[in-house]
Amino acid sequence: MIKALRGMKDFLGDEAQKYAYCVDVCKQLAQNYGFSFCETPLLEETALFKRSVGESSDIVGKEMYQFEDKGGNDVCLRPEGTAGTVRAFLEAKLDRGLANHRFFYYGSMYRYERPQRGRLRQFHQFGVESFGLDDIKEDVNIILLAKSILDFFGIKATLKLNSIGCQSCMPPYKQNLVKFLESTDGLCEDCQRRKNTNPIRVLDCKNEACHELLRPAPRLLNNLCKDCKNDFEELKKLLDKSSIKYEIDTNLVRGLDYYSKTAFEFVSDELGAQGTIIGGGRYDKLVEYLGGKATPAIGFAMGFERLMELVSMPETKRSGYYFGSLGKGAYEVLLGKANKLRLSEKVHLDYQDRSLKAHLKQADKKNALYCVCVGENELASQTLWLKNLETKEEKILRLDEL
Ligand code: ATP
Ligand code: MG
Repeated sequence: MIKALRGMKDFLGDEAQKYAYCVDVCKQLAQNYGFSFCETPLLEETALFKRSVGESSDIVGKEMYQFEDKGGNDVCLRPEGTAGTVRAFLEAKLDRGLANHRFFYYGSMYRYERPQRGRLRQFHQFGVESFGLDDIKEDVNIILLAKSILDFFGIKATLKLNSIGCQSCMPPYKQNLVKFLESTDGLCEDCQRRKNTNPIRVLDCKNEACHELLRPAPRLLNNLCKDCKNDFEELKKLLDKSSIKYEIDTNLVRGLDYYSKTAFEFVSDELGAQGTIIGGGRYDKLVEYLGGKATPAIGFAMGFERLMELVSMPETKRSGYYFGSLGKGAYEVLLGKANKLRLSEKVHLDYQDRSLKAHLKQADKKNALYCVCVGENELASQTLWLKNLETKEEKILRLDEL
């Protein structure tokens, strides 16, 4: 028997229902916050991810599903959504206008990682990207949306917050950090490598021993330029005003030059080792870096699989109709009626002639609100028998009354 690939799984039954429910909630909330839907291809030129996610990142370095297509193009299944969204934004020349644009997207992402709890090879993300707003209030907007999604589902997660500065305060800080790292012995192999390729990332090494060694490392948060410091203070103030709790985490970093200022994560302690549900931040230089007009931007991405572990489905209320026939000729009448009603309502049209009792039992199983039956009498008088399964009320209706 052929099975799904390792690290890839199906959504069927309850799991599929839950995924659809989570997508619906996220879509609705994103729209409420001013974002509109966009969708980009699953497959992109590998160069796009190399440039935007960065060659020194784990994603590009080790995790990409990269191959040559039949036309000899070097392509890659998307490992994340920001790169494709920025490419689409540029291709539509939206960077040339003055308007700001807010998008949300959702769908599958692909990373060749070691499968484990909260870590798949095909997983699903919901993400938002906002282009054109340099204002710290947009950071607040984005963080509030992320928080609202978690709140809607009743999920408790800690907001971790940091600022990684800008083109003026990051480079001198980086030099300082490299000096510190060069005078520090005993860092793990990964850190040794990152020290040269992407020194900022050393700070988020998960290795305990490295953690200890890095304790006295200089922190960018204490060395921000005036602008970045003001923005960070303003961000904290606005979050305080909205009663949003946060923890400052100076190890929360993104190692690439086009990331700037706000970096944040929502972390749950109920998910084991893979506790980060949402990760986001500013990337004010990425659009320019990919060839567009300088456009500030900020976004986040949320992992559905990690979210879904913490979501419980609301009780489903009775809804829609169950149609059942008793005897010859009734089915045709119900078919015509169902076809019309289905433009706006859910109708389960049963195919078997059963007793009224059996139909009522089926209707209950289907969780229908109304059970509608047609038998010989109804057929003769062009009527329907209807029962509201919640109030237990019964009625005879003319065909055109339903
Ligand atoms: P991690 O540190 O867990 O590897 P990351 O930094 O690679 O996370 P991002 O690229 O910021 O994660 O992705 C945003 C979110 O997508 C994560 O917070 C997580 O919820 C989800 N996610 C990332 N990789 C996976 C995966 N392999 N399987 C399931 N969900 C994932
Ligand atoms: Mg990862």
